[in-house]
Amino acid sequence: MKTFRWLPLDQRRHAIPGEVQGQNIPVTTLCGQETTTPDHVPTKVEWLWETCWDCHEKARGYVHIGLALLAEWRG
Ligand SMILES: [Zn+2]
Repeated sequence: MKTFRWLPLDQRRHAIPGEVQGQNIPVTTLCGQETTTPDHVPTKVEWLWETCWDCHEKARGYVHIGLALLAEWRG
């Protein structure tokens, strides 16, 4: 099963494949952008960044997984 998560990255809400492995690590978004995961728990404002529609399209073939790990970041 292919899964993805949304993450606020570089001023957009992008989708990343699989699981978030931690903070401040390299990831490639579904739209092909190489970036790093946030070094902090994303803020409410960051979650409101505009959706990357390229990721949105590519995410069709993936299953969204929830926000459980991000919740753990708060600990
Ligand atoms: Zn994207």
